[in-house]
Amino acid sequence: MAAALVAVCVDPRINHEVIRIQVRQRLERSGIRAERIYILNDVGGNPGSNFHNTIQLLSRMSDPIVFCVVLHHTDCLSAQSGLRSDLAVAAQKVAAELSAANVHAPVLTGQILTENNELQWSDEPVWHYVPSPSVRGSRGRDVDESWDWRGLWQGLHRCKGFDVGLNSAPAA
Ligand SMILES: [Zn+2]
Repeated sequence: MAAALVAVCVDPRINHEVIRIQVRQRLERSGIRAERIYILNDVGGNPGSNFHNTIQLLSRMSDPIVFCVVLHHTDCLSAQSGLRSDLAVAAQKVAAELSAANVHAPVLTGQILTENNELQWSDEPVWHYVPSPSVRGSRGRDVDESWDWRGLWQGLHRCKGFDVGLNSAPAA
């Protein structure tokens, strides 16, 4: 089964299921089919042995890796301790790991707002996630009900600086 790998920090405030939902939606937008989304955590989201071993496991199972993303998050204690790699460096490490395993897959990056687990993709404007008034009425048909979009949107509006820094994290 095709797999997507997501590198995140070990921070206990990161909700893996909420991240998984947003990655699944991104895969759908990108037309990439991945039945399994592996959330792999290590300090700072740095791709470490967890990431390496999972690539080896998938290789043994002959499961193709079709998508990878490295996610940093706001208010990261690993970063504050000087243990977090730059996002670009981490993405390069992922690309090198994939290359060594003879895997060809896109490597994306993004930021998680720790307070609400909202994922902001580096290559997409954040407003992509906001349902327009016309689709709010059909909410539930194609949006996972376990994810409170309206609450998220209201939370984002409360987030100071949201309107000015689309792809940059608000000050921690
Ligand atoms: Zn962290």
